[in-house]
Amino acid sequence: MGEPGLPLSKNLELFPDLHPALDPRSAVTEANRCLNCFDAPCMSACPTHIDVPGFIKRIASGNVQGSARVILQANVLGMSCSRACPVDVLCEGACVMHTYNKKPIEIGRLQRFAMEDYYARAEAGGAAKIRPAPLAHAEKIACVGGGPASLACAAELRQRGFPVSVFDNRPLPGGLATYGIAEYKLRPSDSLREVEMVRAMGVEFHCADVGSDVSLDELERTFSVVFLGMGLGAMQRMGIPGEDVPGVIDALHFIERYKTEKDFPVGRCVAVIGGGNTAIDAANAARRLGAAEVHLFYRRSEHEMPAFANEYEHARTEGVVFHWLVQPVAIIEGKGRVAGVKFVQTRLGPADESGRRNAEPVHGSDSNFMCDMVIPALGQTKFVDLLKSSRSIEISGGSITIDRATGRTSNPRYYAGGDCVNGGREIVDAVADGKRAALAIAAQFKG
Ligand SMILES: Cc1cc2nc3c(=O)[nH]c(=O)nc-3n(C[C@H](O)[C@H](O)[C@H](O)COP(=O)(O)OP(=O)(O)OC[C@H]3O[C@@H](n4cnc5c(N)ncnc54)[C@H](O)[C@@H]3O)c2cc1C
Ligand code: SF4
Repeated sequence: MGEPGLPLSKNLELFPDLHPALDPRSAVTEANRCLNCFDAPCMSACPTHIDVPGFIKRIASGNVQGSARVILQANVLGMSCSRACPVDVLCEGACVMHTYNKKPIEIGRLQRFAMEDYYARAEAGGAAKIRPAPLAHAEKIACVGGGPASLACAAELRQRGFPVSVFDNRPLPGGLATYGIAEYKLRPSDSLREVEMVRAMGVEFHCADVGSDVSLDELERTFSVVFLGMGLGAMQRMGIPGEDVPGVIDALHFIERYKTEKDFPVGRCVAVIGGGNTAIDAANAARRLGAAEVHLFYRRSEHEMPAFANEYEHARTEGVVFHWLVQPVAIIEGKGRVAGVKFVQTRLGPADESGRRNAEPVHGSDSNFMCDMVIPALGQTKFVDLLKSSRSIEISGGSITIDRATGRTSNPRYYAGGDCVNGGREIVDAVADGKRAALAIAAQFKG
């Protein structure tokens, strides 16, 4: 592990920013292209409804601190979102410039410009110091998990005068924003800047696992409301022989380790299994970390691949080789480590209930692929073990069921949001959920 909170120098070198920061002059030029639309579609496309034309207008007029305030009012993780949001399918995808066949406004980079200016000034002591709001309520709120959903919920409630405690079971808070996002988008140090801002607001952080270090019963005794923001669980297993041999490492562990360990070794030839964004992130990282060959294997065809189109394109430019319609059936072991993967060809059958066509193995089509590292990326498991003891919290398909307008679960003392509710989406969705729940909790105690 490197120095907590500091970027690893090897990662700064190997993973330069995907979208470099705008300099002040380019930021003003870009901001001046914005049409400041009435009923701005970019704003509706953002789950946190940031006043996009409002913050862009302030950059254009030189009021960068004001711009940051507009962003933070809507989204306390404005920095993470500016760097990690899939803007092509959100705000920038909705920008009216598309209808004039022009390049959309670079909303993500402008937001990052404002947020970096904000943090740089704050760290240099040049911005108003954040102070905790006076405590105005006796009702204490607990947030389970310290990821984006809980951070947004905690920040909103603390600013409204509620005492809030966050319980996270990792050494550093921030959830996947600290441990899971590709390094060329967001570094742990960026995510931790936001955690520190939430701490400065007066939110208390506890490094504890709810369920083993502290029980829900204990939380219920001390806190009036519990917000559940514990994300998803471990990666799904492949369920094939040999998957526990050294050299097989699931994508989440792989990403976490290269982001936090100074000397994390990568294989020479790496096979990544899966077709989602996490698989792509792992494949790109393996290339950057020095793997001579990275091959990604997906059991359906290119058209069914769930990864975003721009992420797929990016991986191709990194030199990742894609193999379609293949499925692993066994890990090949040699000298006590992974030596390869046995694959079988698949063909697409009828669509399942989700509308996607099933991949069916073609018998007798086995082939071996020799490699020295395998990274399965089959998606995270749904993770509601904590609630198995049934606290009358309804769970459907492994996700917590909530009232969409308030985030309230079927037990009125529990609210929930983020990946544990939506099954795994983006940081910005988790922030929107956390904030929505906070507003409903605050309203509940105002009678
Ligand atoms: C590999 C990967 C790459 C991604 N890339 C992007 C991206 O580029 N852009 C983007 O917007 N989104 C991305 N996402 C999705 C994004 O990270 C998540 O949607 C977001 O972090 C969800 O926030 P959350 O607060 O719901 O959960 P999490 O971020 O998962 O946080 C939950 C926290 O709760 C803790 N916890 C769990 N159980 C307990 C317990 N019992 N007690 C205490 N603590 C507990 C966990 O350890 C974790 O720290 C990515 C996800 C993955 C897996
Ligand atoms: S849609 Fe595009 S041009 Fe219109 S306000 Fe949003 S960023 Fe500006």
